[in-house]
Amino acid sequence: MAFARIEPCLERVHEAETPRRTDLERLLGLTDPADIERLFDFADEVRRRHVGDAIPVRAIVEFSNHCRNRCAYCGLQAGNAVLERYRLDAGQVLKAAGRVADMGIGTVVLQSGEDPRMPAEWLGEVIERIKTRFDMAVTLSVGERSRDDYTLWRRCGANRYLLKIETGVPDRYERLHPAMSFENRRRCLKDLAELGYQVGSGIIVGLRGQTIATLADDIIFLKACGLDMVSVGPFIPHPHTALGGQPAADLMLTLKALAVARILMPDAHMPATTALAYLDGVDRRAAALAAGANVIMVKCTPYEVRRLYDIYPGGAPVDADTAATLAQLEATASILGRQLDYSRGDCIRTLRGPLPPSICQPGYYAGKITNAM
Ligand code: SAH
Repeated sequence: MAFARIEPCLERVHEAETPRRTDLERLLGLTDPADIERLFDFADEVRRRHVGDAIPVRAIVEFSNHCRNRCAYCGLQAGNAVLERYRLDAGQVLKAAGRVADMGIGTVVLQSGEDPRMPAEWLGEVIERIKTRFDMAVTLSVGERSRDDYTLWRRCGANRYLLKIETGVPDRYERLHPAMSFENRRRCLKDLAELGYQVGSGIIVGLRGQTIATLADDIIFLKACGLDMVSVGPFIPHPHTALGGQPAADLMLTLKALAVARILMPDAHMPATTALAYLDGVDRRAAALAAGANVIMVKCTPYEVRRLYDIYPGGAPVDADTAATLAQLEATASILGRQLDYSRGDCIRTLRGPLPPSICQPGYYAGKITNAM
């Protein structure tokens, strides 16, 4: 017999500007299957009301696996000497973007490791050429750079930026990311928002040292950032990393964290992360789509290099055909009574115009004007 109904707790979290940590801990710690189902159903209903039933599709092109960082969990980390490194040239990126356009997908995500030899001007030109040739939104995910670089790319037409905070607890962040600083990552997120990007961030569930309390703090941090896109994905150990011997994330905890994040951030675009397809041998993305997630990502990285974008094991299938993947996802969506949406799928806030200042952090949205260009 459960102690008390969880509905009042769900409502409080949903309505909170600054949620109570104890409420989040309670929801993240649920063990009674009936309660967990209530949590997922509530998140699913919040998702339906705020972002609707459509499942926006994003195509991702992973253009370089060079990385200067040594993140404790990521297979691209600089110390992984067995990984063969690649960097696509501009023509190859353009060609991949062309395939995305041919498939009718309205957003391309350009992602890479934090590649120190990727000049800002080079990426700027690639963005400009994509924006001139194709009618699509461009999302960047290339790590921490200077405000000048972010400014340049925005001027070249980039619309969105993904930079996961991974954990919102500064000392945990710094333990997981040698020689990196929480403060700089936060600076990047702030710069990006001020420059008018639609900004996404997110966390990894199940990293060593995480507790229900730190996970609650992670989610509170995401809420305080006022994000347009929020990703909550599971940790998958990679053998050539510091955390290679650690267990993978718990599926249920990942889904609970996703559901809590949705309830707290009703308007955000939230992916059913690709990592959920590889966590435990079963594709768990349908479960995520039924527990608060609304977005799906498909890989459009050229087949020749796909296996080299080896963030976590299993995450870079060489043979998966993008069109076949889309057909499968269509089927998954229809089982859920939903449909893939190939349009740009801009963020709710962008579509709606700027938020009233009262619910923004001071100065956070300064300059955050419409960016649906
Ligand atoms: N270099 C860019 C792009 C990051 S790679 C940046 O720093 O923003 C994309 C994401 O993969 C990371 O943000 C991280 O959250 C996720 N990731 C990396 N290794 C992982 C692992 N072993 N398990 C789960 N997710 C992982």
